[in-house]
Amino acid sequence: MSPPSLKTRERLSEVRYEIRGELARRARELEARGRSLVKLNIGNPGAFGFRAPEHLQQAIAGQIAHTDPYTHQQGLPAAREAIAEFHRRRGTPNASPERVFIGNGVSELIDLSLRALLNPGDEVLLPSPDYPLWSAATILNDGRPVYYRCAPENGFLPDPDEIEALVTPRIRAIVLINPNNPTGAAYPRALLERIVAIAARHRLLLMADEIYDGILYDEARFEPLAPLAGELPCLSFGGLSKVHRACGWRVGWAVLSGDPLASGDFHHAMDLLGALRLCANVPGQFAIEQALFGIDTIGALVAPGGRLHETRRALVECCDASEHLALVAPQGALYGFPAVVGAAARGFDDHAFALQLLEEEDVLVVPGSSFNVPYRNHFRVTLLPEAPLLREVFARIERVLERRAQA
Ligand code: PLP
Repeated sequence: MSPPSLKTRERLSEVRYEIRGELARRARELEARGRSLVKLNIGNPGAFGFRAPEHLQQAIAGQIAHTDPYTHQQGLPAAREAIAEFHRRRGTPNASPERVFIGNGVSELIDLSLRALLNPGDEVLLPSPDYPLWSAATILNDGRPVYYRCAPENGFLPDPDEIEALVTPRIRAIVLINPNNPTGAAYPRALLERIVAIAARHRLLLMADEIYDGILYDEARFEPLAPLAGELPCLSFGGLSKVHRACGWRVGWAVLSGDPLASGDFHHAMDLLGALRLCANVPGQFAIEQALFGIDTIGALVAPGGRLHETRRALVECCDASEHLALVAPQGALYGFPAVVGAAARGFDDHAFALQLLEEEDVLVVPGSSFNVPYRNHFRVTLLPEAPLLREVFARIERVLERRAQA
């Protein structure tokens, strides 16, 4: 007789993270059989030859003898002071080291902050498309995601009137991802101001996932939310994973701003949850000050001629040249989120397409519906490969779409 199998948390059945899901498992099977794949599913700079900047590596190496003790649950004081100073220079109100929480990547802090905030049945306004950890963490912390649309026909920008129409007494927070993963949208100041006004009217916590804050293309600008939020409680997330290409170090931070009285017990809740997991990885924390105030290394990558700039240009050109693809050109972050249109889109299913692309052309992308959208004709690629490789990928995508259009 087989033993009874372990039961797991029921709400896990509502959670998906397809960036590393079924298709990624299939890709590993194919690789084990000797196939050579181009895997564009994860925004992992190190997998595409990027290295963390030398001066950040040195900052850790020079302190390695001091990295063995636990730190304070919120992180090393000097690193928190650097983050607070970085935010003060941006104009974030009441940013102080006491209100900085360092975590094992932004991922951990998304989970901790929602756990600190939510009671069963509470709701969180999330963008659609979203970065799916936000949905997962909301659900696993007993909340319910309520999606506001960031529609492709509106440049993937949200409509503040639509957001406000979704507010109910159960809504506790509004999450913004800016610059956005997966769409690359960068939110203009006037839009952010309108969203701040909604948060003020309905007493919502503003949660700004700004992990791509230094990755902007052409004329696009990054507008941090916290300075616009003024005295409202706002939690701004940043980290070393993307702008500083050190995702394996697992360093992220969250800065609580606004009037301390308005955030009530939230600070204490974050501190307590942080204490329960003792502290974040210590070595990477020693690189934070240099990352924020040392020499800039992302600027050259996104400037004309820079590697990310050129790959993003390749994406735009390939999509423009294709009769099967429509793209809202990303203004920031590390992804393209094209739509399949026209004859190739007849009876289209993004999962079936991604599987076909993997099986027939050795390319792994993420189906658009993995990002909690109701439509199924998009897919996401990362901009991390060099431009010639991305052009080659799009030639293969074109072949598959051509076959579908002819079918
Ligand atoms: N937020 C967004 C929008 C992301 O794209 C990612 C990673 O891809 C994260 C948060 C988590 O980053 P990390 O945990 O490496 O800091």
